[in-house]
Amino acid sequence: MSKSITVLVPVFNEAGNISPLYKHITAVFSELGGEYQCKLLFIDDGSTDISLKQINLLMEGDPNVRCIQLSRNFGKEAALSAGITETDSDAVILIDADLQHPPAVIKDFITEWQRGADVVIGVRKKNPDEGLIRRIGSKVFSYIMQKISDVPTVSGATDFRLLDRTVVEEFKHFTEHGRITRGLIDWLGFTRAYVYFNAQKRHSGETRYGYRKLIALGFSAVISHSMLPLRIAGYLGFFITVFAGGLGLFILVEQIILGDPMVLEIPATAMLAVMTLFLNGILLVSIGLTSVYIAKIHHETLNRPLFVIRKKQSHTTSSRNT
Ligand code: UDP
Ligand code: MG
Repeated sequence: MSKSITVLVPVFNEAGNISPLYKHITAVFSELGGEYQCKLLFIDDGSTDISLKQINLLMEGDPNVRCIQLSRNFGKEAALSAGITETDSDAVILIDADLQHPPAVIKDFITEWQRGADVVIGVRKKNPDEGLIRRIGSKVFSYIMQKISDVPTVSGATDFRLLDRTVVEEFKHFTEHGRITRGLIDWLGFTRAYVYFNAQKRHSGETRYGYRKLIALGFSAVISHSMLPLRIAGYLGFFITVFAGGLGLFILVEQIILGDPMVLEIPATAMLAVMTLFLNGILLVSIGLTSVYIAKIHHETLNRPLFVIRKKQSHTTSSRNT
């Protein structure tokens, strides 16, 4: 029996892109020669244009096309999650509707999947729609995420991915809200492969992710995948306390106990400043400590699984037969 693959497309006002995207994707699968059963799942994320009409037209002509209509615009992350929870194919491919993710790359995804990768990640080499500021912003964000994230990430990694069924099943267990789909997929681990591609220009329409939305998304990604921001106050406090403590001790010994043998004549205001600095340091350390507890609460409320099992083996089970 041929394996089934669901191509998942989040759609928010993409009327001009749906038909060309469908043509490209079906062309890719027919090139693969019916080896895989391709299903298309559109998630209409509250479109206000004729996107839904376009999808309906496709559904009339092709029983492999399905659509889930969200009640309003929930954003791409929620749309992707909605789609992933609705699939039961052997693999799921996430792809943007605007043809920025070239469907031809799907072939490479499938090759890597068949070689044993559970997650195949599309890594963008260049993005023609990206101006200088966006490019720098995206580089800086990637760098920060790589440094502070609990799991390793690759610079330029996109949402354009293939997920094996095992990964999809694990993904369905996430309950957290402010989610970044690709961050959660990274968190899950599993065997990964990377496919590099040149991003294309948006086929029709405009991006919905302005700077404000991107910054908010970046902030949310940092907050939900790293505890570092919470610890910063603590680290800062520690340095200030040590520095002011050392200085204070020096003043105490040199000025008060030994009677200023180095003739520094440190004024009383300076001593007061050192004392204030020291107390501020203690205060920041306390905030840092409180933050550690808040981090723990934050962690618990995310309610992520404690661990994720890739597969269970014993001498009776054969190796994975994909
Ligand atoms: N999208 C969505 N909901 C939104 C915004 C975007 O489902 O609220 C979809 C959009 O239709 C497209 C994909 O997410 O398929 C990427 O959106 P866009 O091209 O605007 O983002 P960019 O490529 O600039 O990151
Ligand atoms: Mg786009």
